[in-house]
Amino acid sequence: MKHLPLARLCQEGNSEPFHQPSRLHRGVQRMATGIRARGRIWRMAAKGWVCARGIVPYLILSDIHGNREALEAVLDHARGRYDQILCLGDLVGYGADPNFVVDWARSDARAIVRGNHDRAAVKDDSPDSYRAAAHSSTLWTRQALSPENLNYLSMIPSGPLTHEGFDLVHGSPMDEDHYLVAADDAAPLLPYLKTSLTFFGHTHVQGGFLVTQDGTRKLDPECSLDVQPDHGFYLVNPGSVGQPRDGNWRAAYAVYSPKEQVVEFARVPYNVGPTAEKIVLAGLPAMLAARLLMGK
Ligand code: ZN
Repeated sequence: MKHLPLARLCQEGNSEPFHQPSRLHRGVQRMATGIRARGRIWRMAAKGWVCARGIVPYLILSDIHGNREALEAVLDHARGRYDQILCLGDLVGYGADPNFVVDWARSDARAIVRGNHDRAAVKDDSPDSYRAAAHSSTLWTRQALSPENLNYLSMIPSGPLTHEGFDLVHGSPMDEDHYLVAADDAAPLLPYLKTSLTFFGHTHVQGGFLVTQDGTRKLDPECSLDVQPDHGFYLVNPGSVGQPRDGNWRAAYAVYSPKEQVVEFARVPYNVGPTAEKIVLAGLPAMLAARLLMGK
């Protein structure tokens, strides 16, 4: 979704037509620079109502792993709360719908960095180092992807990618394959962090770390996070859309609002049964289906 028309926003929450702002629901007010709706400021452009640049919220997604149902549930759940989609890699691998996810990313992702599974799908240098299930799914994914989608994966840059003042990486700012699991993994990064906010994925665990001169602490994903640049460097993981591993099977994502400097974490249930069944029917390792049900 590039720009959500205000008309659609209003239709979802209220049947009033958007060309009559004085009759919009009580959350909508006229502003000097546009119209505020659902906490966002919208202005009229040639193509219709758009979020005012610089204050648009971002939908941050990572580790979708060919899981169509989880992706669709996230997009549905987050609808109307963001203007641009940023992706932290691992579109493919493990799941049975890699072409659907890559088609979607080609169309809708505003900025993206590659993950190790995206790289492995197009390069021969990774699969041998993987565990058996990952190796097997990489080979399956490679033969399942269309030539166009293989080409797209080969073009995705490795991180870090700076976007509007914050960074996107897959693993860590130093290495896309590096797992930031514990505070001890994040603390050594302090001398190398260039921006106060970095979004990362790879671990499939929602949350993150605050790295400061005085120490590093884990961030609680169960609440919204106020980013306070004066406090240190924030490493934030939106969690995995398609294969959570933090004991919660629900699809994970985050919305970042630069104006308020707030990250909101979210979890979304989806119909995981058919997703698991598709994995088995595709001939992918059965453990990849089982782990979806456990979130581990
Ligand atoms: Zn991953």
